[in-house]
Amino acid sequence: MKRPNGLVIAIDGPAGAGKSTVAKLVAKRLGYLYVDTGAMYRAVALKALRLGMDIGDPVTMAMLAQATDIQLLSQPDGSVRVMLDGEDVTEAIRTPEVSEAASIVSAHEGVREALVAEQRVLAESGGVVMEGRDVQTVVAPDAEVKVFLTASLEERARRRWQELRQRGTEIPYEQVLQELRERDERDQQRAIAPLRKAPDAVEIDTTHLSPEAVVEQIVALAQRCQHLSAKD
Ligand code: C5P
Repeated sequence: MKRPNGLVIAIDGPAGAGKSTVAKLVAKRLGYLYVDTGAMYRAVALKALRLGMDIGDPVTMAMLAQATDIQLLSQPDGSVRVMLDGEDVTEAIRTPEVSEAASIVSAHEGVREALVAEQRVLAESGGVVMEGRDVQTVVAPDAEVKVFLTASLEERARRRWQELRQRGTEIPYEQVLQELRERDERDQQRAIAPLRKAPDAVEIDTTHLSPEAVVEQIVALAQRCQHLSAKD
C-alpha cells in the first residue's frame, strides 16, 4: 500500500520500554511526523481530573473525550508540544497522577473510539511514527513497519524513576515499580484494545540496548520496506 507521505511506523509496548525516545529519534531521522498517542489519553485524563469528574464513569468520559480538542504540535527542534483545548499541557500531563488516570480513562470504549478516530486521520497519509499500546493492532493494523518494544520491569521502572527525578519529582524507586506493575496489568488485561504484540510485529528487547541501537534497527526495517515497495 502506497501512501503520499511515506510509511506508517507503529511502535507499541509497555510504559518505560523506550517508545517515546526511540520514536522521536526515528521520526527525526526519516523526516516523519511523531505522534504520541499516550499523550492524547493523558490530556483527556488531565482535563477530567481538573474538572473533578468521575474518571471511572464510561459515559461521562466518552463525552469528555469527544468534546476535547487535542493538538500535537511538532517543534523545529523535533520536540512536540501537547495542546489541550488550546492550552500547553506538555509538562502537566507527565505526573504520576495523570499516568494512573490515563490508564483508567483509556480503558473506556467511548474514549478509545474518539481518540482512535483522530489517530487514524493522522496516520492515513503516512510519513508518521506513531507510538502507543494499540497502534499496530487497532489504530493502524496496516502499518508497513510494526515494532513491539519491551524491557524488563525493573529496567523500565529505573528509566521512569530517572525521568521523574530529572523533572524534579522525587518518589521512591519501589513506588515507581509498583505503579508501573499495576499500569502494565491494567493495560494488558483490559477488555478493549489490550496491550499486545501483533503477530507480524518485530519484537525488540531494549533492556540492554542504547536508544541509538534500537533506532538503527527500526530505520533498517523502514528502509527495507521502502526498498521493497519501490520495486513494486
Ligand atoms: O504511553 P503513555 O505511558 O504516555 O500512556 C499513558 C496511558 O495511556 C497508558 O498507560 C495506557 O493506559 C494509555 N494508552 C492507551 N493506548 C495508547 C496509548 C496509551 O491505552 N495507544
